Amino acid sequence: MVIVLKNEATHQQVKELVNWLEGYNVKTNLVEGVHSRIIGLIGDTVHMDIDTIEANECVEAVRRVQEPYKNANRKFHPDDTVLDIFGRKLGGDRLQVIAGPCSVESEKQIIETAIACKEAGATMLRGGAFKPRTSPYSFQGLRKEGIELLLKAKQETGLPIVTEVMSLEHLYMFSEVDVIQVGARNMQNFELLKALGRCDKPVLLKRGLSSTLEELLMSAEYIMSEGNSKVILCERGIRTFEPMTRNTLDISAIPLLKHKSHLPVVVDPSHATGISKLIEPMSLAAVAAGCDALEIEVHCDPKHALSDGAQQLTPDAFRKVMEKIKALAEFVGKPVDNAE
Ligand code: PEP
Ligand code: MN
Repeated sequence: MVIVLKNEATHQQVKELVNWLEGYNVKTNLVEGVHSRIIGLIGDTVHMDIDTIEANECVEAVRRVQEPYKNANRKFHPDDTVLDIFGRKLGGDRLQVIAGPCSVESEKQIIETAIACKEAGATMLRGGAFKPRTSPYSFQGLRKEGIELLLKAKQETGLPIVTEVMSLEHLYMFSEVDVIQVGARNMQNFELLKALGRCDKPVLLKRGLSSTLEELLMSAEYIMSEGNSKVILCERGIRTFEPMTRNTLDISAIPLLKHKSHLPVVVDPSHATGISKLIEPMSLAAVAAGCDALEIEVHCDPKHALSDGAQQLTPDAFRKVMEKIKALAEFVGKPVDNAE
């Protein structure tokens, strides 16, 4: 349930209203937006009488929220959520570009790639230290050492780092990581989501391979319901009957998620397509559709990459793609961030 407050409602009136509502054993969430102030109610509200609430002198309107996601719902938080990630604003009026290798492979590889990505205009660095691979015989990542190398690359370039956590038991290693990624395969690892909800770091939540948008939003809700509202939604392609691409990038997910939720939306064209040639057109499509960030795989030597070689861009190719992204981002009024 959402309660829209009258503009003239005083602080004291709102406080009294909140106390009264909490008597019904529901959680209240007061959001002071740019254009309105609302109270979101979470819990069992079926027995609450809308007319009685509406009769309160500081209430403008009351609406029931049908969707099962509440904290992630735009009705609960009409303004866009803007996250501050080491000085970069994600979800605001700037486009962020997260670039870097699929996996962190060595100090030389991650530092070289990070420098090249930064020079091309990337605003954050990605790199997998823990790798969710389909085969247990494939490269599994450098794990703790991978995170240490990412931190070195951050020191070298000033780029905040994004890296994936696969298991609860590794979470303690992520204390200096700027954004914790939850991979597509873990989107419904609810215990992991709950634990991430209890930490104070931005979480980049990737859509599961066969998950609906509502399931993605419910997974965001798991994190938010534990107290962490710093959630970033990521469209990374879904499984369809089409085998020519690794997955099918769901462009419509971008405006839909932005409409249904206030959370920032990131698009990963690399895992969506699996084909390096498609990164440019898919990135441009995602920017045109209103994404807040792109996550693109870049490797200094993709042919010898230990994972996802076919979809990673060389630094040269990435530079060219970035030029197009910058031009389009400028055109749509959401220029690529250039914060130092
Ligand atoms: C990744 O970004 O490294 C990754 C494994 O992606 P996904 O979880 O989307 O497959
Ligand atoms: Mn990858």
